[in-house]
Amino acid sequence: MFNTNLKVHSKEVTDATYAALARRGVTIRDIAEIVYDVQSPYSKGLTLEHCEQSVHKVLQKREVQHAVLVGIELDELAEKGLLSEPLQQLIVSDESLFGIDETLAVGATQSYGSIALTTYGHLDKEKVGIINHLDSKDGKCVNTFLDDLVGSIAACASARLAHTVRDLEERGETLETHAFI
Ligand code: MG
Repeated sequence: MFNTNLKVHSKEVTDATYAALARRGVTIRDIAEIVYDVQSPYSKGLTLEHCEQSVHKVLQKREVQHAVLVGIELDELAEKGLLSEPLQQLIVSDESLFGIDETLAVGATQSYGSIALTTYGHLDKEKVGIINHLDSKDGKCVNTFLDDLVGSIAACASARLAHTVRDLEERGETLETHAFI
């Protein structure tokens, strides 16, 4: 029997999200570097630290956390050969028509609006930074979901920054005078 009334504490979900990314070799700095690449042409005074702060903010969102936990769990189960066929092979081979990895990643961008969605599309196409490394199939690791999740987190963090920069501009300010955003 399952205890359907037991609520999972937010901290447990947040900790599990950070742990899952770390287990898969993705650092906050890796994601922040993608954000910097996307956002620096439009954001005067932008630093990697601003980008890291934005990534941390995105990783507090339940929608994003749930997507990360589901996607990484499936990658890890596939890596151990624990899924049933044909799903096992579809995920291991990152079958081009599979598409659920992208669907999950797009779903996670929804709380950050259209800028996050279009930025995700750009990152998925251009394979910026660690996304390119994760996307390459070496026959040892399964990162079918992870590359898209990293793109999604970076896209959300970029969208957050774009809105923050606009708010500052309206007050006649830039990121140069704000160490924390
Ligand atoms: Mg993928």
